[in-house]
Amino acid sequence: MEGPMPVAFTAHGNPMNALGGNPFARFLARWGESLPRPQAVLCVSAHWERSPLAVTASERPETVHDFYGFPPELYRLRYPAPGSPALAARTRQLLVAAGFLCQEEQSRGLDHGVWSPLMHLLPGCDVPVVQLSLPRGVPPNAHVEIGRALAPLRKEGILIIGSGNLVHNLIAADLRDREAPVAAWALRFDGWVKQCLQEWNLEALSTPWEAGPAGRDAHPTLEHYAPLLVVCGAADPEPRVAFPFEGFEHGSLSMRCVQLS
Ligand code: ZN
Repeated sequence: MEGPMPVAFTAHGNPMNALGGNPFARFLARWGESLPRPQAVLCVSAHWERSPLAVTASERPETVHDFYGFPPELYRLRYPAPGSPALAARTRQLLVAAGFLCQEEQSRGLDHGVWSPLMHLLPGCDVPVVQLSLPRGVPPNAHVEIGRALAPLRKEGILIIGSGNLVHNLIAADLRDREAPVAAWALRFDGWVKQCLQEWNLEALSTPWEAGPAGRDAHPTLEHYAPLLVVCGAADPEPRVAFPFEGFEHGSLSMRCVQLS
């Protein structure tokens, strides 16, 4: 291991992306090849919120199909990467030392926020994966603190990934048209996140509804945004910021991805 691992925020968007065959899936495959090979992945997804925090701790986490009304082939997909009880315990230890309660869960598998991008990022399914929940009912700066607590894992070869969407409004989305025109407010908010990351303005990023333009349109709820804050907390104090993918799908889902190294 040379230096600490980078940290990454990946968009996931439509669960159908897991099936591949589109530019975003092809990008994920290239991105995965460009990243240093991790010992294990710790992933925080929009689709698991828990109070107190929880981590998956089984040897073989199941692939959870936590979506409805999609074609059968999507439900047949599996991501059979091993778990890592050791990483789950280490994650819990770091969080408890930072003052967060955290439970290890044997029965919880990986939701599609985790496995749909990993299907392309790490297609071999041979890198152990642990999922950490988002906290429920806390102010957004708590997410940054959680990330800070996890930062030592980067020196242990762990790739910390946040999975969400930097604009996520399903009510405004045109779900029949992946290439639907992008709403002006969606572009504005996405550009604001980009600028805040470039200026490394964590204070503004931590208050997206107040500081961001059209924040409540971009995120009627914050669970798809919050994984970015965990990732930012785990980054270096002044990281190199890269956006390996930019774009939208369905008019109101930002597919922007972020790498901090
Ligand atoms: Zn989602």
